Amino acid sequence: VSMFLQPIRKITALIENYQRGMAGFGRFIEIMNIDPEIKEKEDAVVIDKLKGNIEFYDVGFGYNNNKSILTGINMSVRSGQTIAIVGPSGAGKTTLLRLIPRFYEVSSGDIKIDSISIKDMKISDLRKNIGVVEQDVFLFSGTIKENILYGKYDATDEEIIEAAKKANAHEFIVALENGYDTYIGQRGVRLSGGQKQRIAITRIFLKNPPILILDEATSALDTQTERIIQKSLYDLSKNRTTLVIAHRLTTIKNADKIIVLTNDGITECGSHEELIDQDGIYSDLYKLQFEDIYEY
Ligand code: ATP
Repeated sequence: VSMFLQPIRKITALIENYQRGMAGFGRFIEIMNIDPEIKEKEDAVVIDKLKGNIEFYDVGFGYNNNKSILTGINMSVRSGQTIAIVGPSGAGKTTLLRLIPRFYEVSSGDIKIDSISIKDMKISDLRKNIGVVEQDVFLFSGTIKENILYGKYDATDEEIIEAAKKANAHEFIVALENGYDTYIGQRGVRLSGGQKQRIAITRIFLKNPPILILDEATSALDTQTERIIQKSLYDLSKNRTTLVIAHRLTTIKNADKIIVLTNDGITECGSHEELIDQDGIYSDLYKLQFEDIYEY
């Protein structure tokens, strides 16, 4: 019986793997956002390295053409600045930032970077200039090195190590049995949430884009890991235009500008002190969420 069952088990395992693989692939498409709806113009402009001055002109967006999520968004971020975006859940913070790499297309208005509409740029060139760290890190089954190389395919070992050191990832990687060649994923080593984050940060140090989009983690990491990651993200944001969906008070206070996004659009914009003085939504949010929080 077992001889008979064996192949069936194998086939079942294969199908399961295949399905998991497909789920992974779907996730990959999602992350890469290879959205067939988004088309590149035939005469799209070749872009080298952007400076990272970002401007939103009366931007509107809805996912399914019926319900609009964002309307009348006007904002600007100067090269090298850090903008913290705060606001209630569902206000569209993530959506707003996904428009910049053209993961989704604006329904109205325009987004320009260095005075060029993102719609006029070659999409791959635009995305080369943007690093994204979302809460849910995308890793595929393969070695750590392969996963890091996803940031820059032709990086040398020296470059990889340098980037991993900056991301505070080098130490934990070399402590693994096979170091950078350690296999991760379904059949390999399972990394912790904090370790995954550090791999994601390594990729971006390697990619070295002028624009950075961060969705600060809300998931529970221990305080020590949290600090290390905060520090790496802070270092990563230096000399880059950074837009961060901020959950940490330190991040918000360190930002050049805070944008409060609610269901009514951008309702407040200014520095921490300015917004506290205004005594509006930010001030309320601050009192509710942060006043009693241990600050480090
Ligand atoms: P949170 O702080 O909870 O992450 P958020 O401010 O980032 O919220 P978004 O994630 O941008 O808000 O979501 C804004 C709205 O768009 C929500 O109503 C959400 O359900 C909807 N939405 C988000 N992603 C999609 C999608 N891929 N398709 C359809 N609707 C979506």
